[in-house]
Amino acid sequence: MSVADEKTVVRDYFNSTGFDRWRRIYGNGQVNKVQLDIRQGHQKTVDQVIDWLTADNNLPGLTICDAGCGVGSLSIPLAEAGAVVYGSDISEKMVEEAYERAKNLPGVIQKLTFTAQDLATLQGRYHTVICLDVLIHYPQDQIAEMISHLCSLAESRLILSFAPKTLALSLLKKVGELFPGPSKTTRAYQHREEDIVKIFSDNGFRVQRQAMIGTRFYYSRLIEATRS
Ligand code: SAM
Repeated sequence: MSVADEKTVVRDYFNSTGFDRWRRIYGNGQVNKVQLDIRQGHQKTVDQVIDWLTADNNLPGLTICDAGCGVGSLSIPLAEAGAVVYGSDISEKMVEEAYERAKNLPGVIQKLTFTAQDLATLQGRYHTVICLDVLIHYPQDQIAEMISHLCSLAESRLILSFAPKTLALSLLKKVGELFPGPSKTTRAYQHREEDIVKIFSDNGFRVQRQAMIGTRFYYSRLIEATRS
């Protein structure tokens, strides 16, 4: 499938069934067991990023681009901590929901800008660029261009998460594909860490901090890379 076709599939999904599914997963209402596990795993990823950024002690006023921000699970707490956050997402419905979640939080909405935009069309420079759980929607041959573009927007660092490709996980995915069910996601792509690190280094970035977040159904490798 071409890059354009891949993006159309992803955007249409997150404007329809994917919107309903992920809005609930990234919320606090009742969900099924698998979705609850994914919610908790994803929250750990968000918490880890916030821990890293808080530890640096310079969040107030820091410009952050949250590419593929979804319903604002990370953008909103970062704005609450004082950062100036530019959240964007290829799905209009996801950013509309992010705005709804933020609009009545005192002092927060002024620090947030939400736009519906493919990350490939983002422009400008931000101290920090973050892209969580987005690469999972794209095959290996498309991610180098995406990551390189994100690097070009980052003055200082890029924080990415992806589903790591390991034998066990590949098997798990194979097994998972045999059981289509109500909580099925879009096709999920895993990526090799060495490939991601190579793309960073080709763009002049070096890995600084990393974490592995895993629950039963959620696996995410989180990497912070800075300009070397
Ligand atoms: N980053 C958010 C988080 O961690 O809460 C959302 C993660 S969700 C699994 C993936 C999001 O990526 C969806 O909201 C989807 O619309 C968005 N997305 C997928 N492809 C994108 C692209 N090319 N540009 C911008 N957003 C994209």
